[in-house]
Amino acid sequence: MQRTFLAGQTRQSMRDWMAGNGQPAYRADQVLAWVHQRHAADWAAMSDLPKLLRERLQASFNFPSLRLAQQQGSEDTTRKFLWRLHDATFVESVLIPANPSLYGDKSDRHTLCISTQVGCAYGCKFCASGLDGFKRNLEPAEIIEQVLAVERIHHAATPASKSRLVNNLVIMGMGEPLANYVNLMGALEILNAEWGGNIGARKITVSTSGLAPQIRMLADQPWQFRLALSLHGATDEVRSRIMPINRKYPLQELVDAAAYYQTRKKGMITLEYILIAGVNDMPEQTLPLARIAQRLHAKVNLIPYNTVEGLPWQRPEPAVQTAFLKRLQALNVTATLRREKGHDIDAACGQLRLRVEKEIAALQP
Ligand code: SAH
Ligand code: SF4
Repeated sequence: MQRTFLAGQTRQSMRDWMAGNGQPAYRADQVLAWVHQRHAADWAAMSDLPKLLRERLQASFNFPSLRLAQQQGSEDTTRKFLWRLHDATFVESVLIPANPSLYGDKSDRHTLCISTQVGCAYGCKFCASGLDGFKRNLEPAEIIEQVLAVERIHHAATPASKSRLVNNLVIMGMGEPLANYVNLMGALEILNAEWGGNIGARKITVSTSGLAPQIRMLADQPWQFRLALSLHGATDEVRSRIMPINRKYPLQELVDAAAYYQTRKKGMITLEYILIAGVNDMPEQTLPLARIAQRLHAKVNLIPYNTVEGLPWQRPEPAVQTAFLKRLQALNVTATLRREKGHDIDAACGQLRLRVEKEIAALQP
């Protein structure tokens, strides 16, 4: 029998399985609590389930599916996790400790940045994730397991702590989340559900390079997810130069879709704007950027570019970054300049995986 991923089960699918196996419905909740709240690392840990039931579960479900391949960083700094998937591909997650200026509200404890695809098909010129092209979509369980695996590592290191570590999620790791829309929604439903991850929708930020139709679809969902729009250029000329998707959905179409999102979910949009020297950091970009921000009632997050090995782009001098920020603020835009955490540990998306894959390739005859 083909096994499916345990972490991707909903309460209903688990209840159906229990019913099909002659078990009472409450067993479904017991299993889900072990998976999502009690950080079980294996079947043996589920001590209040009869052994025979555990054996049957094991025959039906894979648990867990991610293996930690590498970890960088320390307990109280940005930590990066490289996961090996069942088909020997890799994705990464980044854990960022409390930072009030990040997404969500001011009481953040830990934000986890998770991946949705292996590689990325969108080929933004500055990004490490797209360098090797696209391999595959992650399953809902593989998206969810990134959260569970980080929680398990945390609880193994500090067994006394009962509370959750991750209380804020950003879907900003490798891949384009809205290009894996169905699996993303399946994962977020479980991460948000009370019986599952129990992370509030307003604590979940979906980042997109600008898939206009899917932004509208997301707007029509009942959940109040935050949307981070990777703008990086406020005119078509600049944006098309670095983001090929801008040719498919130019700014007019993209901003219209985002405006629709804004009408459905008020105050939920952040514009991401990486500052790349000589590309998009010119003073002339600030006025069109301010106009977009005002239309969307969005704040702007300026991020100095993280250099990627093999790519020619650089971050601007600090004085240029500050001048850009000040101009935006003078145009009445709420803007922050995020001094990137984790620059030294390849925290920008896709970089750790790229390096490890190169190392692995170098080992092969
Ligand atoms: N595909 C989605 C989500 C993953 S990328 C998107 O593009 O939004 C997450 C964010 O990291 C995006 O804003 C992306 O533009 C940014 N990013 C990619 N490479 C970067 C780099 N080298 N330095 C800083 N930010 C980078
Ligand atoms: Fe893909 Fe986002 Fe990187 Fe663009 S920035 S290549 S969409 S992961």
